[in-house]
Amino acid sequence: IIEVKHVSKNFGTHQVLKDVDFNVNEGDVTCVIGASGSGKSTLLRCINLLERPSSGEILFHGRPITARGSNPCEYRSKVGMVFQSFNLFSNMTVLENCMAGTVKVLKKSREEARQTAVSFLEKVGMEQYIHAKPHQLSGGQKQRVAIARALAMQPEVLLFDEPTSALDPQMVGEVLNVMRQLAREGLTMIVVTHEMAFARDVSSHVVYMADGVICEEGTPKDIFENPRNEKTKEFLARFS
Ligand code: ATP
Ligand code: MG
Repeated sequence: IIEVKHVSKNFGTHQVLKDVDFNVNEGDVTCVIGASGSGKSTLLRCINLLERPSSGEILFHGRPITARGSNPCEYRSKVGMVFQSFNLFSNMTVLENCMAGTVKVLKKSREEARQTAVSFLEKVGMEQYIHAKPHQLSGGQKQRVAIARALAMQPEVLLFDEPTSALDPQMVGEVLNVMRQLAREGLTMIVVTHEMAFARDVSSHVVYMADGVICEEGTPKDIFENPRNEKTKEFLARFS
């Protein structure tokens, strides 16, 4: 469903991604792991059209995502993103946050958008908070709203950039449980995470990045039980 083909990205003279190449099939849960600064966020940002690769290309259903005439907002409704820092609209209620995209981008009626929003807020266990403002919520609650907002767009792929890194430890579980449920339901996800237990138990595919390069990729069993690359071994040893 997504093909990342020989993608490189430079910021000035700094090459942040070097010939990154991998595919995501429908229903895959791909976890991207690697040290800080290895280029994981930049890779997701390229896939979400927030950055443009310096070379290489990214295909969605076989078509370049930067093809002329394609609309970034429409693309992002199909390939959504959940950020570490939630990025909720602070002046809107929880419900309005989850309706905004469906009304503006998908051109749904307010009534239909409301129903969709409520059903996804129920799914993440946030239906009692529909009239709250983001500042009244805990980090874990904000992130669950951000996930409901992304789901309301009925995406085919959801990208997560360290969705639990900004959370207090006791709130990490509630967000990971929602993500586990989505994985079980077959949603295609690319998840940048430092939660190795999640990567090991939930993913179908693990990509290990170091210094802008994919050092090693494979099934969670390959990567966690039988890493071949010395850098992978060293990185994983930090978590055990
Ligand atoms: P972390 O785990 O800390 O989030 P990461 O793997 O997501 O790290 P990136 O955020 O992709 O890493 O950053 C990779 C490198 O690219 C870093 O050295 C960073 O300083 C650099 N970088 C990222 N964005 C920009 C930018 N807009 N301009 C210049 N350099 C950037
Ligand atoms: Mg990052």
